[in-house]
Amino acid sequence: MAVSERTTEQGYDGVSAFPGAREETEEPPSALQVWLTGAIVVLPLVAVGVAVWLAWGRGVTVTDLVMALVFYVVTGFGVTVGFHRLLTHGSFKARPWLRVALAVAGSMSFEGNVVDWVATHRRHHAYTDRPGDPHSPYRYGTGLRGQLRGLAHSHLGWMFRNDPTPAARFAPDLLADPAMTRVAGAFPALCAVSLVLPFAAGWVIGGSLYAGFTAFLWAGLIRVFLLQHITWSVNSLCHVVGDRPFTTRRHDRATNLWPLALPSFGESWHNGHHSDPACARHGLGRHETDVSAGLIGMFERLGWATDVHWPDPERVERRRRPAGGEAGEAEPVRTPVG
Ligand SMILES: [Zn+2]
Ligand SMILES: [Zn+2]
Repeated sequence: MAVSERTTEQGYDGVSAFPGAREETEEPPSALQVWLTGAIVVLPLVAVGVAVWLAWGRGVTVTDLVMALVFYVVTGFGVTVGFHRLLTHGSFKARPWLRVALAVAGSMSFEGNVVDWVATHRRHHAYTDRPGDPHSPYRYGTGLRGQLRGLAHSHLGWMFRNDPTPAARFAPDLLADPAMTRVAGAFPALCAVSLVLPFAAGWVIGGSLYAGFTAFLWAGLIRVFLLQHITWSVNSLCHVVGDRPFTTRRHDRATNLWPLALPSFGESWHNGHHSDPACARHGLGRHETDVSAGLIGMFERLGWATDVHWPDPERVERRRRPAGGEAGEAEPVRTPVG
């Protein structure tokens, strides 16, 4: 189907495929990008298979599970509190050492270096669910086939495309911060540390190389696998499935998806987040558990975080969508990039 006039950038109608999406006009990605991304996506999956095979009939040690949980929590908060709420949206200020510690922890999650992560995510907010969004599930339109293809694209297909987000435009503040460019440069080394640490800890605690190997599987690769897919589900599922209690910008279809609230550390209150991106708490409704906001609150009490943007109850009420209203119909809200 030819791209109709109503689907140009300004005239995007909210249901058609993005201009050029079906034609795939862009240059293909480099072989290096495909291989690296492929390895990062596929190796953790292979590890899941190996670990299940090894655990068959003899179970998993408590040590491996506890270590997996510890690494999941540390690297997970690095992404949600560090990469996302602090560095992308500036929803609070952190002591310099805490800022670096969070950036390092987030880098160990195998989701790209901190500068690229922040740039991509700011671009997602600047163009949510319309042409320009790097990972919208609506890229191929809202028909059933287009929607399924869009879900695959938003979950991980987008990483295999040649569609780089210019950091100079979307993350100039991070590029100007020597501490952040250093953490970004250390990304490959931090990925290695993220796998070597569980191995070393397992070896020391279990007293054998085999114990080191199973710790490497569970607290290394499987933990990476789980956190990656939870994060990517916020990009895919949390723009398609769930509730939209708050108004967002035009075309923005971010949702709240409660089953992911705990494993995503509060990030799946994604509709609440898109309705007020700079807010430190994403779970804006009652009973919306948001452990990332809890951690930021703890940092604040310790004096490590200041200028925290906590939700303003009046503003939250103003943003609450009347029952039966359509998603994505509100006036523009402030975004980090204009
Ligand atoms: Zn989003
Ligand atoms: Zn965000």
